[in-house]
Amino acid sequence: MLNIVLFGPPGAGKGTQSEKLIEKYNLTHLSTGDLFRKHLGEGTSLGKLAKQYMNEGKLVPDEVVIGMVEEKIKETSNSEGFIFDGFPRTVAQAEALDEMLSALGMEISGMIALDVPEEILKERIRERGKTSGRVDDQDEGKIATRIKVYLDETLPVASYYENQGKLTKIHGVGTIEDIFGDISNVIDQY
Ligand code: ADP
Repeated sequence: MLNIVLFGPPGAGKGTQSEKLIEKYNLTHLSTGDLFRKHLGEGTSLGKLAKQYMNEGKLVPDEVVIGMVEEKIKETSNSEGFIFDGFPRTVAQAEALDEMLSALGMEISGMIALDVPEEILKERIRERGKTSGRVDDQDEGKIATRIKVYLDETLPVASYYENQGKLTKIHGVGTIEDIFGDISNVIDQY
């Protein structure tokens, strides 16, 4: 089973690359951002709770995220593997994920971290905001908050996997195809 954590700041291209990877490797895409947006669109109580955090660019509380992921993994347990996109975003989430997977006899194969300079991230998010309809893509303050939250709370997750010998960094600037090629080369060695 291939279980990959695709990691990087907001705007790094995780969603774009995930779409291509699930097709090539026959994996299940587990994007917590997409799951929350689905709940938000359907107006569920989870969606209402998440909305206040998401629209401000803050993190949804760990226990809410972890519960949602656990449910999704269990209902998809016949999968050939997962791409985790936008999760884990805190060390507590990473620890919970390891526990969840080991209880199911699974483990993370590796983390692939996309490296993109901050100025390029901001440009990409502003550009996406013109069509995404996402409130958090359309406001300079919210974009800045998301990058700050990433640096303060999420970046330590890379060290968590590095300590397990599971981290590979990829340069995330270039054509979508070139970056996809670099990621595929890493996965092919798992
Ligand atoms: P981006 O990568 O563009 O920031 P996502 O679609 O991954 O966007 O996430 C959008 C928002 O959803 C985040 O800013 C946050 O509020 C919430 N969210 C998504 N995943 C998590 C998570 N693992 N933990 C906490 N909050 C999350």
